[in-house]
Order: sequence, then structure tokens, then C-alpha cells
Amino acid sequence: MDTPSPTPPQPPLPIAGGDATFTAGRVFCVGRNYAEHVKEMGGPGEPIFFMKPASSLVAVGDGGAEIPYPAETERFDHEIELVVALGAGGRPASEADARALIYGYGVGIDLTRRDAQFRLKEEGSPWEAAKAFDASAPVSALRPAHAIGHPRRARIWLEVDGAIRQDADLADMTLSPEALLVALARTWALRPGDVVFTGTPAGVGPLAPGQLARGGVDGVGEIAIRIV
Ligand code: MN
Repeated sequence: MDTPSPTPPQPPLPIAGGDATFTAGRVFCVGRNYAEHVKEMGGPGEPIFFMKPASSLVAVGDGGAEIPYPAETERFDHEIELVVALGAGGRPASEADARALIYGYGVGIDLTRRDAQFRLKEEGSPWEAAKAFDASAPVSALRPAHAIGHPRRARIWLEVDGAIRQDADLADMTLSPEALLVALARTWALRPGDVVFTGTPAGVGPLAPGQLARGGVDGVGEIAIRIV
């Protein structure tokens, strides 16, 4: 019997300023990593980890990307996030060791079927249908840390059709990117190619077909998606 043909690999994420690309492996996400967002979601709560498959990534170039409105969804939310891309793996025990694993940074939108998430939380069921669906993880071109450093105090923002929705600072994170990596590494040995969505600030809200969401992190980049 023939072996089934493997699904073609995900298109790699572009790296800004050249032809090099980044092949993403796993996608880790953290919820509840900005206090004001915890409040708007009805907190309290500690940061919590979940994952999306690499197949949920969409590499968004300078021209933006079109994202399909998911089926059976009443509330489709944007969450602007700083994305960390790992160039090396391991189990860092200190924040200094964790920083050494970071290849670079991008800007992502953790798209969320919020009505499904609320229902699944209520049931105590897994979140995949709310968080890990196709095209749920658009990411901008990456910028290497050797070029931009490690931004920790920078504006993070998102607007929808020109109206600002999310506007905060990376310094508002509960767990820094390094602290997130140390925490993740207690459960998973980190690998080169891992991508980490570091959580979203307050101001999450719904997107409708036809709307344009544009966001960014100062010093890292911008991302724009059109919902279709
Ligand atoms: Mn998120």
C-alpha cells in the first residue's frame, strides 16, 4: 500500500529585508498576559498556554492578506500580539538563557471565534474550535533580533477601518517574552522554529466581512488583514 502523500509544508514566514525565510514549527499562544485584557474578559486569571497548528499561520506581506470569515461564527475577534520566533531550542531555566533562543519578532493577530470560546470555556471543553482553525494566525514578516534588539517597551496597537481598538505597551505584559519561554519550557522542550504569540492587550473586539484590521508594534512592524 502506498504511503499517503504528506500535506505540503506551510509557506515559510518571510524575514524582512531580504529573501531569507523562517520555517515555523509549533505555534504556542498565551492567554491572560495583560491585566487590562484579563479584566475585560471577566478575569481574574493567570496566564494560560494553548497551541495552534502551524497550518493556522498565514504569512502576511506588505500588501496585507485576505482572511475568510469562519463558518458558524457570531463573534470573530481580533487580538493584536507580539510574536516571538525561536532560532534555537532547549529548556531555558533563566530569562537570559531564554533570550538567547530568540531569533526575532513579528506582529500577529490571534483570531478568535469568541462565541465558540465562551461556550467551550463554559463546558470545560478544549479550545481548538475557537482558536486553532484555518487562517487563525496571520503573522507579519519577521525582524531578526540582531537588527532590532529585543523590544520590551513599545506601543502595540490595532485599528479597524481606521478606528483605534487596541492601544497599549509591551511593558504591560504580565510575563515578559523571556519569562513566557521559561514557563513553556517546563512543559515542552523548545525547538528552533517555534513561534510564540505573547498575548493581547485590552480592546479586543469583533470583525465583520469587508473590514480592514491594521495593527503593529513600534520597532517591529505592521500587519493588515481584510476579512472576506
Ligand atoms: Mn491571544
